Amino acid sequence: MTTSASWLGARFGPLSEECHGEVAGPTEDSRFTVLVVDDDARMRASVGDLLDAYGHQCQLAASGREALELLSAGGIDLLLLDLNMPGIDGYQVMHEISEHYPDTDVIVVSGETTFESATEALRCGAQDFLRKPYAPEELIRVINNTLRKRTLERKMRRMHRCLEASEHRYRFIVNNSPDIIYMLDNNGNFVFINERIKTLLGYETGEILGEHYSRFVHKDDIEKAKYVFDERRTGSRASNNIEFRLLCKGSALPYRYFESRSITIELSAMGIYATAQQEAQQQEFVGTYGVVRDISERKRAEEVINFQLYHDLLTKLPNRSLFRDRLNLAISQAKRNKTKLAVMFLDMDRFKVINDSLGHLAGDQLLQTVASRLHSCLRDGDTLARVGGDEFNLLVPGISGREDAAMVARKIMDRLKDPVILDGYEVFVSFSIGIAIFPDDGQTIDMLVKNSDMAMYHIKAHGKNGFEFFADNMKAVFHRQLSLENGIRKALERREFELFYQPQVNILEQRICGLEALIRWNHPERGLLLPDQFIPLSEETGLIVEIGNWVLDSACRELKSWQLQGVGNVQIGVNISAAQLVQPEFERTVLDTLAKHGVAGSQLELEITENILMQDMDQAVSKFQQLAVNGVRVAVDDFGIGYSSLSYLHSLPLHALKIDRSFISGIQAPKDRSSIVTAVLAMARELNLEVVVEGVERKAQVEYLQRLDCGKAQGFYLGRPAPPEEIRALLRNQ
Ligand code: C2E
Ligand code: MG
Ligand code: MG
Repeated sequence: MTTSASWLGARFGPLSEECHGEVAGPTEDSRFTVLVVDDDARMRASVGDLLDAYGHQCQLAASGREALELLSAGGIDLLLLDLNMPGIDGYQVMHEISEHYPDTDVIVVSGETTFESATEALRCGAQDFLRKPYAPEELIRVINNTLRKRTLERKMRRMHRCLEASEHRYRFIVNNSPDIIYMLDNNGNFVFINERIKTLLGYETGEILGEHYSRFVHKDDIEKAKYVFDERRTGSRASNNIEFRLLCKGSALPYRYFESRSITIELSAMGIYATAQQEAQQQEFVGTYGVVRDISERKRAEEVINFQLYHDLLTKLPNRSLFRDRLNLAISQAKRNKTKLAVMFLDMDRFKVINDSLGHLAGDQLLQTVASRLHSCLRDGDTLARVGGDEFNLLVPGISGREDAAMVARKIMDRLKDPVILDGYEVFVSFSIGIAIFPDDGQTIDMLVKNSDMAMYHIKAHGKNGFEFFADNMKAVFHRQLSLENGIRKALERREFELFYQPQVNILEQRICGLEALIRWNHPERGLLLPDQFIPLSEETGLIVEIGNWVLDSACRELKSWQLQGVGNVQIGVNISAAQLVQPEFERTVLDTLAKHGVAGSQLELEITENILMQDMDQAVSKFQQLAVNGVRVAVDDFGIGYSSLSYLHSLPLHALKIDRSFISGIQAPKDRSSIVTAVLAMARELNLEVVVEGVERKAQVEYLQRLDCGKAQGFYLGRPAPPEEIRALLRNQ
């Protein structure tokens, strides 16, 4: 406070010492110094006495020169001046006074009696003219008159100075206010605006004055701004805290610039009135006064916080809350306009595998790329939200029926066909999309989301990469799915899994040379379940790692027990899932399990599909190399239906190819031709890989393979998957 007061003081002089109260008191003003200038000593002395008697201070000068000297010393208010003096006469003195001391009053007291001399004296600046000899009362009356006038003038001047200083001070405060301060006339045109407008909005005050306020308000905010700028109320009822945007200079540009180039302000305004007819208590509205505050920073901070609250920070897409909000609105609109809308649940296929194998950074990058591709399929009114790791929800309002939604889904799938390049790898992404239509499939947010989710699960369970509309019968499937997932979790503890073994036969020697371990689930209610019914879900939920370890452990234990019974001289094939392979301790687990049961590495063959091998070649190479050192074999399962490139056959340490059963299924007679089987056999020989043909169901197929000199085969004709006891009997009989 002190600093600002003294700073103001430095700029404007002491804070109105002069101006406190009305005008300074009479004592200060009634003290005057009168200089008596006369060459007649008697005259000087008598006037001096007279002035003394009336309480005036008095100085005496015997000549014009002496008078000028005393004047130059300052402090003289009034001269009683003789005209005729030797040397510098009264006229010359008056000339000097008008030149240098215009503030000093002069009364001429002279023996001159002519009218001309009196006029000349007044012309030279004298306030009054008194002829000698004069009556003392007359002199005192003239002096008092002059001094009274002088007192008044002094007061006026001081008042003027006070007003000026005060005006200067308030103008300074107003112009340096952090807020915009303005006044409008009763038509809404600016009659005053402070200079803050320049730093905040870029206008000169001259550009604003006389203009209507609406020229400077963002067009979307005009209605709101009317409340403020047209404010005619006064006092506490007057508007305040209304937010709107003002345009910065140069924003006659396209709309998109407006937001960022305008300042949001909060405004308080009130009407101002002139009391025109005091008696009638009638007031005349003269305009509006207001203060507007720049709250852009706060608004921007609010915007950031809002964005974070309602968006996913990785993809910048709306999050679940915002999605539900928009869906809510869209449902109301659809009800009103009697239109339909679609809610889609999109779940990326195999995202977990990609994320686990390429790392989270690559996973994030993939999500961002996919999000922007998805976004590019949408119209303006659609909302795409990320609602979970690899889950997206899409709202497509204003559709006329299912076909419209199907078109969007097809467009999305089409846009995702091209691979995404991650760390130099081509990654192919696909989505399982479930669609629910309002009002047919649900009338509330929850129903629509839930049913689209259910439809998504349905497509996921039926081969992925596609879309499906919700149907009532899915509920049952969904619930079964749910209970299945819970069941898998418990199946391990309850020892409900078991292994069946399917023989791999050397068809040239008619001898079982290997077994493939195939998992079965002895479900307490649903009986024996095949892997297709629970392995995909186990892979999705990650439970497959634990299950896979159990399979490996059980297969090795079984093999060892057969060996101890003298029948275990076979190889055992174990299927491996992607999630297992990406485990950092995968090789360790395999080797530890072998060691635990005392089984040789060369008796174990890991069956891995092409797609899994391709997901992370570098890792696969190093893992298989370590396993190969310990004799463990690797076979490519379902060979021929997966990846199109064959170059990996060179780079990986592989031992066998298991030709997918689709290639043999067409063979009806020993002499039929399947050029693919022939070609694969030739290639395998070239690469020094063993071949096992899967799915042999007929004698003719065996004969066909024998003719091609193909050694190993597996299939129902040669032996179905069977429980361990049956297999042991088979082995014993051999
Ligand atoms: P896969 O590894 O290709 O196993 C061969 C599948 O073909 C087995 O089905 C087997 O019963 C079936 N099969 C064998 N011969 C014939 C035939 O002549 N005709 C026909 N139509 N089918 C035949 P299964 O046991 O239902 O297993 C299906 C798939 O489940 C397996 O395919 C494998 O990918 C997976 N799987 C099985 N056990 C495991 C396991 O322990 N872990 C993992 N990760 N996957 C497993
Ligand atoms: Mg297999
Ligand atoms: Mg297979």
